[in-house]
Amino acid sequence: MIIFQSLTKTELADLLLPVSVVKYERDLMLEEGGPEKVLLKKQKQALLRARQIFHWVYQRYVTDFDLMSDLSKDLRTFLKANIQIYRLTETYAKQSEDGTFKFLWKLEDQKTIESVIIPAALKEKVGDEVIDALEDGKRYSGIETEKAGLNKDLDTDSWARLTACVSSQVGCAMACSFCLTGVQGLDRSLGVHEVVTQIHELRMRAPITNIVFMGMGEPLHNVKNIAKACQILLDEDGMNFSKRKVTVSTSGLVPGIEELYQVTDVSLAISLNSSTDEQRSQIMPVNRRWPIKELLAACRKVPLGGHRRITFEYVLLKDFNDKPEDAHRVAKLLKGIPSKVNLIPFNEHSGSEFKRPTDKTVLDFQKILINQGYTATVRISRGRDILAACGQLRSLFGTARGTEKHKDFTQSSTTA
Ligand code: SAH
Ligand code: SF4
Repeated sequence: MIIFQSLTKTELADLLLPVSVVKYERDLMLEEGGPEKVLLKKQKQALLRARQIFHWVYQRYVTDFDLMSDLSKDLRTFLKANIQIYRLTETYAKQSEDGTFKFLWKLEDQKTIESVIIPAALKEKVGDEVIDALEDGKRYSGIETEKAGLNKDLDTDSWARLTACVSSQVGCAMACSFCLTGVQGLDRSLGVHEVVTQIHELRMRAPITNIVFMGMGEPLHNVKNIAKACQILLDEDGMNFSKRKVTVSTSGLVPGIEELYQVTDVSLAISLNSSTDEQRSQIMPVNRRWPIKELLAACRKVPLGGHRRITFEYVLLKDFNDKPEDAHRVAKLLKGIPSKVNLIPFNEHSGSEFKRPTDKTVLDFQKILINQGYTATVRISRGRDILAACGQLRSLFGTARGTEKHKDFTQSSTTA
């Protein structure tokens, strides 16, 4: 059986070619250039059918070929005999007080992966203040991060975005010392169908507007599958995401950046996390192989176009990379690259000794970048009450666990 979610539309059309029927085929074959004409007609028909099936699955959420009423009975029989529509098993789903939804999925080999849905409104009330929700987080207007993390006043009707934070691997091989997934090591990479289905399952439950590959794993360590999955995400007959709404985040696997852009044109985020090679190599072993200079050179070559920018993520670790001189060095490093900086105050966990800096330190760091002309946002840590940070849910529950049914919020409206 071939798994439907592992196929691009063109690959599906190729599979359908042998069962494409052309009217008066025998007569056509006898004409001049007949065989070519027949083949062209068959290809056109196969592509049309592939588009129809993509619509049924990815846009109408139908997972039973028998319900695809505009397909012929013969075609449905062929599909049932040869192609399987894959599903993931939801083993855990829970909504946090701030509206974040956390999911744990079981794969066929019983391994688990996690994804999080992060809702964001255009304007949100945090404590007594109303703040603007920006592209990659919120404008940080001097509110204590602790308070901001718990936003009980989130008005679900005014959600502008529902961002799905998804996994690319089971575990991660990159061994960044501050990251819980890194501490766990790599189990295996996800297949195309597992990545696509993870997002499809989330879309069955909520009207997702953005995808970020910032869950478990290093997407560019699984670049072939992630690039192909992104093609399906962006396909106008598939999930039809805009390239601006799908972001691949990498710790800096330089060759993977070029490979990704040979196949797809999604947005890029780089986990910079340091301003010198010495510092970066201490927390991110990948830097010993591809140091900052090579990483930024690869970033400069990314075919962005259309006012797109690269997001540079910077995890702020207390007394390690949070000093004003670090901020100045970051500003200098990124000169000339269309960029925005996303500061992430460290999310403390038992797998690391690092601590979260004070709010003042975070604000001072942000101010330096803003004064240097950068867009610098602070990611408010959300979903902490359900352990939404990288790898934390999985490490707590290991594999399969009893299901706690989530509140279905597919009714919620979005404005973006
Ligand atoms: N492997 C990819 C994507 C997943 S990690 C990458 O490294 O980019 C997503 C982001 O979470 C990265 O920017 C990483 O630096 C950050 N991160 C990991 N552990 C964290 C923690 N404990 N607190 C805050 N940010 C963390
Ligand atoms: Fe892997 Fe990213 Fe965690 Fe580093 S930060 S260990 S690359 S998931």
